[in-house]
Amino acid sequence: MSAQELVDRLSGEGIDVVRVSYPDMIGTDRAKDVLVEHLPSAYEHGLAFCRAVYHTSPQGDTVAVPGGLDAGLPDITVRPDLSTVVAVPWEPGVAWCLADSTAPESPRDVLRSVIARAAEHGLHPIVGPELEYFLCDPDPSSPSGWRRYSSVTGAVYTAGLRADPDNHLLRVLRHVRDLGIGVTGGNHEYDGAQFEINLQHSEALSAADRAFRFKCAIKELARKEGRLATFMGKPFNDAGGSGFHFHLSCENSAGNCFDDPAAEYGLSTMARHAIAGVLRHAPALAALANPTINSYKRFGPDTLAPWLIDWGLDNRSAMIRIPPERGAGARFELRLGDASANPYLAIAGTIAAALLGVLACDEPPAPLEGYGYDAAKSPVLPSNLSSALDALEADTPLTETLGKDFVTSFLSYKRDEVERFQRHVTDWEFTEYAYHL
Ligand code: GLU
Ligand code: MG
Ligand code: MG
Repeated sequence: MSAQELVDRLSGEGIDVVRVSYPDMIGTDRAKDVLVEHLPSAYEHGLAFCRAVYHTSPQGDTVAVPGGLDAGLPDITVRPDLSTVVAVPWEPGVAWCLADSTAPESPRDVLRSVIARAAEHGLHPIVGPELEYFLCDPDPSSPSGWRRYSSVTGAVYTAGLRADPDNHLLRVLRHVRDLGIGVTGGNHEYDGAQFEINLQHSEALSAADRAFRFKCAIKELARKEGRLATFMGKPFNDAGGSGFHFHLSCENSAGNCFDDPAAEYGLSTMARHAIAGVLRHAPALAALANPTINSYKRFGPDTLAPWLIDWGLDNRSAMIRIPPERGAGARFELRLGDASANPYLAIAGTIAAALLGVLACDEPPAPLEGYGYDAAKSPVLPSNLSSALDALEADTPLTETLGKDFVTSFLSYKRDEVERFQRHVTDWEFTEYAYHL
């Protein structure tokens, strides 16, 4: 369909504005609302955006991204991907189109290039994302201005009014269904005011696009209700974190190449190599799957989040869980990432690590037996963002597979975040030291 045909179709559906949004390096949506009649020109010439993630951080600091502030804040061109236009169910008259930016750290391009690398070897990754988040209500008496939605306790892995007295889940589930992003269902999660919604599996770029759209949609819908939905990895001291788990399998011309009924555990040699690759590159991968200062507060023993670099058969205390299905459903679930991760980058990094394992014929250690979290048995994940960034920089094969320009921009942005945090005096420090010292 040409751009003009699309305009005619959208106008016929009563749409007069198209929201063109692209994911920036940290996975935030950057957008312009474009009048529908301007869409063909936006498609042909692109839209000009300032090249930045944040030039000024939410804390008021200036942030350095190479080719950004140091280059005088030049434009990048953002080109709508017309195949992605959908009506926004909760904003009549508005359609939503994803876009690609010309920035070297364009997350859709980073993922595309890793998918292309896998395709050179006849491999097509299939990804099924799961995202957890917390819902908050305004609370002027709280220092942050927010508190957890409802005061539900004990509503673990369930649904209905006792877990969700205002029917938040039903409302958002129906809206995101109407957006056509392939949701399957959702539930109230383990902690009070925490929800999880699952997405169907698909080829990797579509899975990342849908995860990105899902996060934007949930944040928009919460805002429409005067609430805040947060995908921060560990937003509260008195609750567990929010994971971005995803399931990964791999197809070749013969079908799911992770399945082998004749092999140990029913997993193919390729699946073993892929698992070993993710284990080997996990410290570097953490920089992408756990990309904030806060992310590392989610890791720990007895959390259902990982702490050690290990794998296990249907074992939720391991970083990589092999769900029980085999045949077309043979796959692994990577439980490493938290929900703050940019889905494109976490998925790209994981496919890259798995591919490197396959190409190097890496072999994993024996799978974890029983309940995990025994540091005598497996290596520990990085304990902070700075260590994970160092691991990414030191991981030459992963850096080369993801693209050096991207990794340089990512490290620069994230090291700046670490430095800003190190200079910041937190409430914890005052409480801990001010009275006694
Ligand atoms: N909230 C846990 C995490 O941070 C996962 C809980 C679950 O298994 O669903 O990864
Ligand atoms: Mg969950
Ligand atoms: Mg899961």
